[in-house]
Amino acid sequence: MNYYEAIGLPKKLGIYVHIPFCLSKCAYCDFNSSVPGSKDYMSAYVSALITHMESYRWAVGDGYQPDTVFIGGGTPTVLPSDDLFRLVKAIRRIFSLPRDAEFTVEANPATVTYSTLTRLRRMGVNRLSIGMQSAHENELKALGRIHNRHDFSRSFRMARDARFDNINVDVMFGIPEQTMDSLLHTLTYLTRYSPDHISLYDLKIEQGTKFFENYREIAPLLPGEDLEADMYLAAIQFLKDRGYVQYEISNFCHPGKGCLHNLKYWNCDEYLGFGVSAHSYFNGQRFSFTPDVEKYIQGVTVKDSPVRITDECDEIGERERIGEYIMLRLRLCDGIDDREFARRFGYSFEALYGDKCRRYVKMGLMTMQGGTTALTPAGMFVSNTILSDILEFEDLGRWKLS
Ligand code: SF4
Repeated sequence: MNYYEAIGLPKKLGIYVHIPFCLSKCAYCDFNSSVPGSKDYMSAYVSALITHMESYRWAVGDGYQPDTVFIGGGTPTVLPSDDLFRLVKAIRRIFSLPRDAEFTVEANPATVTYSTLTRLRRMGVNRLSIGMQSAHENELKALGRIHNRHDFSRSFRMARDARFDNINVDVMFGIPEQTMDSLLHTLTYLTRYSPDHISLYDLKIEQGTKFFENYREIAPLLPGEDLEADMYLAAIQFLKDRGYVQYEISNFCHPGKGCLHNLKYWNCDEYLGFGVSAHSYFNGQRFSFTPDVEKYIQGVTVKDSPVRITDECDEIGERERIGEYIMLRLRLCDGIDDREFARRFGYSFEALYGDKCRRYVKMGLMTMQGGTTALTPAGMFVSNTILSDILEFEDLGRWKLS
C-alpha cells in the first residue's frame, strides 16, 4: 500500500502519450519515430490514441487520479494542430485531469507556431520541453537536426510570450566535433534565456541509428570518454553556479521546477503509456504496446480485430522490483534512503549492498551518509558500470527483516 492509499486518497497516476512522427530522422535517434505519411494517417493515429485511452477511463473511478501528462515522441508538434488540440482535450476529459496537473508537450524548435502555443497554453498545457541540443550550427548539422539556433531562440521567446512559465530545454554533450569550449558556450547561450529546467544528455551511439551505421567515419570526430566525463562535470558546476539544482543524472532545474512526470518513473510510481512502443507500470504489471503504427491503429480501432497490440506484459517479482528501484532511485541525487527501502521491501539496503557500495565510496563515486546512499557526480557518469556490479546479489531469503 502506498502513501495515498494509506490515507484514503486516490493513487496518483502519470499519463504518457507517444507521437511517433518527426519531419526527418536525426542521426543519433533510436526512438520509435518515423517521417509522417499523410495528415489523414496522423489523424487516424490520434483517433486510435483517444479510443485506446477511453478504454482505460475506468482507472479514474477505480482509485486512481492522473496528475501528470507527458506528450512526447517523436515530435508531437508535427501533428496537424487540430489533431494536437483534439488529443489534449480528450486527455483532460477522459482522465478528469485537475486544472493544476502538470501537462507537458515536447516541441521541436522548427515546428512550433505562436498560435499553436497560445492555444495549448489556454487548454491547460503548462509545461513545454524544447529540444535545442546545441547552440552551434556545425553540431546541429552533425546530429541531423532540422532546426538552427535562430529557430530555438524564436520558439523559446514565443513560448514565454504564450505564458509558459515552465520550460525545459534539452542539451547534448559528446556530439561529433564538440569541444569543452563549445559545450560551455552552448550552456552560456542557453542560460541567458533562463529556462526553468535543463536536461543534459550524453550522446550514445545506439544500434539502428545512422551514427551506428557510419561509426567508422564519425568515431574520430567524437570527443571520447575522458573528455566527455570532464564535460559532464564542468556542465554540472556551470549550471550550479547559475542557480540550477541537479536532481537527477541528466536533469537540472530552478528550485521547485523538477519534472513531476519524470519523477514518477524514478520513484517507481505508476503510469500508463499510450501509443506505439509506450510502456506502462500499472496495477503491479509492466507492459508495452506494439512499435508498429498500422498494427496499433488497426488493433485499437477495428472492433473484434485479431491484431494484438500488447507486446510484453510482465508481473514483476520481488527481485526485479528491488533491482528496478535501485536502478531508478540511484539516478536521483536524493539516492536511496535505508528506511524507505526497508518499508517498501522488508530488507535493509545496507545489509544487502553496503559492502559493495563502500568500495565505490572509497573511489569517490558514491556517498553513504545518514542512512542515504547516492552517486556522486563522477559516479553518475559511470552509473551503468556501478549498477551492473552492485545489482548482482545472492538469495534474498536470509536478509529479510523480521
Ligand atoms: S526529433 Fe527527436 S524523436 Fe525525432 S528523430 Fe530527432 S531525436 Fe528522434
